[in-house]
Amino acid sequence: MSIRAHPWFNFPVTLNEEAISKLCPACGLCCNGVLFGDVELQRGDDVKLLGKLGVEFFRKGRKTAFSQPCACLVNGLCRIYEDRPNRCATFDCGLLKRVQSEKMMPAAALKKIADAKRRAAEVLKLVRQLGNTDESLPLNQRYAAVIAEPIDMSADEADIERRGELMMAVSRLVESLERDFLT
Ligand code: SF4
Ligand code: SF4
Repeated sequence: MSIRAHPWFNFPVTLNEEAISKLCPACGLCCNGVLFGDVELQRGDDVKLLGKLGVEFFRKGRKTAFSQPCACLVNGLCRIYEDRPNRCATFDCGLLKRVQSEKMMPAAALKKIADAKRRAAEVLKLVRQLGNTDESLPLNQRYAAVIAEPIDMSADEADIERRGELMMAVSRLVESLERDFLT
């Protein structure tokens, strides 16, 4: 792994750490329920320690998982960063990989992050306007719950229009997530 001097700190950091320090605090999309609905524990994860740190698990088939939005994400930062589960520690999104390999400049990646967050905020706003206020659920589940409601033709016309806007907003968000973060 490449090592270089970090402009903010007086000690060498790896390119990986440098990319994370620039992008992740401005993003949080892999922790806040936009990119993923849950995180599965992996071999080597210390379930007892994570439980003590406040992670709440559920059974997912034969696996143990915890839900997103993650309760450990506080003000855009992971409050259990040093002890975070293996899946979290080993996940690098597409943007991070491109910055680490110097195929993309951090400034361009930050623009992509801002764009994805704007698209996610559009979806969130519409989901709330359409009556889903369960902030504990990941965004895709909230969208699914709204769309599963039958269309009430006697309802406010604006709400019927909002359903259409929501579908378009989700399509724009998925396009951005798939293109910039998941490949
Ligand atoms: S999606 Fe990528 S840039 Fe955003 S917080 Fe996760 S790893 Fe960092
Ligand atoms: S434990 Fe930390 S890194 Fe993992 S999902 Fe939660 S906030 Fe993100």
